[in-house]
Amino acid sequence: MRPPAFLLAVTVSATPLPALAADVAAMRDAALKDEIAWDITEGLTTEVGQRLAGTEAEARARAWAVERLKALGFTNPRIEPFDMPVWVRGEEKAEIVSPFPQKLVLTALGNSGATPAGGLTGEVAAFRTLAELEAAGDAQVRGKIVFVDHAMGPTQDGSSYGVYGVVRRQAPSAASRKGAAAIVIRSIGTDLHRNPHTGSQSWSEGAQPIPAAALSLPDAEQLKRILSRGKPVTMKLTLTPRNIGTRQSGNVIAEVPGRDPSAGMVLVGCHLDSWDLGTGAIDDATGCGIVTAAAKRMMDAGQPLRTIRVVWFGAEEVGLFGGKAYRDAHRNEKHALLAESDFGADRIYQFDSYVNRAALPVIDRLAAFLNPIGVAQGGNSARGGSDVAPLAATGVPVIALRQDGMRYFDLHHTPDDTLDKVDRDQLAQNVAAWTAMLATVANDATELGPVAPTEDE
Ligand SMILES: [Zn+2]
Repeated sequence: MRPPAFLLAVTVSATPLPALAADVAAMRDAALKDEIAWDITEGLTTEVGQRLAGTEAEARARAWAVERLKALGFTNPRIEPFDMPVWVRGEEKAEIVSPFPQKLVLTALGNSGATPAGGLTGEVAAFRTLAELEAAGDAQVRGKIVFVDHAMGPTQDGSSYGVYGVVRRQAPSAASRKGAAAIVIRSIGTDLHRNPHTGSQSWSEGAQPIPAAALSLPDAEQLKRILSRGKPVTMKLTLTPRNIGTRQSGNVIAEVPGRDPSAGMVLVGCHLDSWDLGTGAIDDATGCGIVTAAAKRMMDAGQPLRTIRVVWFGAEEVGLFGGKAYRDAHRNEKHALLAESDFGADRIYQFDSYVNRAALPVIDRLAAFLNPIGVAQGGNSARGGSDVAPLAATGVPVIALRQDGMRYFDLHHTPDDTLDKVDRDQLAQNVAAWTAMLATVANDATELGPVAPTEDE
């Protein structure tokens, strides 16, 4: 590790100076060989594995996180618990009964209702889009097993998830309100592997829970071909998930204390929980590895001006319970900036900010440190990741380091989200970008706010 000479220089000056450019660049370049993020990702996915929110596995993950943060030298690693309703998966299988009998691969969506133990058989009513389902008369849907297709493709910024994710979030309620017996959707994903993509959905006003599942993309294609033969299609579906009541989850929090508490803290976050099908490597063990490695590098370089708080949020996947609990508990503390890593670990290609215009020179300075590792400067209307969004919406500045999303939705929420998908060089590039970001903003006293609150939450 390189001697922290520049930080000693900052310490003795009367007014804190922005970090020297050569030192930020050196910290960034050293981080291109980072191993900390990999060690965290490898450890969490191996020693805990899947960690569905509110379950015993997520509790073990919290204990693991506290131990690891302690071992890395962070200050006051602790758990802030909160309660949440918990849904767990049961048996899940599907088959075409007629006209061409065969099995299909699917998985239940979060909060899915259950079929009878022996399954449920019904005729399939197919819709090309959510809008087609919404426009359908109840008679087309009542008593049927609804199928909803969509046309999601990969986009670098992941924006197609916003466009097509509504099928998962809204079609089950729409089908239920029209009297459907059950619903299967084309998985919200971009691969053609026989891995279904789970994900959260919640029942809107007036919608009774019905069995709701996602077919793998090849199985959705297969169902479409079967339907195209023009004969009535009968499907048998067996899904036996359960609500197991209120359980405890929690956020894991630790700090690198800064020299000037009045300067406000920089919060870097990720989420600790995962879906239960894979081991949550890219969603979001790598995020915890990246932000924690960058914070550790700041700790080792000498005491930063601002406190850096690391938060491994709990219960993100199933409804942002951790992000909301954090906002409610900490909204009166001074947060100078929020940033979250929750989009895998492929290389960062752009960063966006949401800061006061008067603070844009700090963002321009950061751009000069990020350009050499392939990161372009974006705009100033970032909203932050899902866990920091509730607090960001109250009017806290944000920086978003955006990862390449071209293969993220091949793996997202599938059994295939496992460690072998993590590219170690790209993971280290992430750590380098995050280290440059922290070395810039945590050693600069410029106020990044105020910014206008947004209305998300
Ligand atoms: Zn995630």
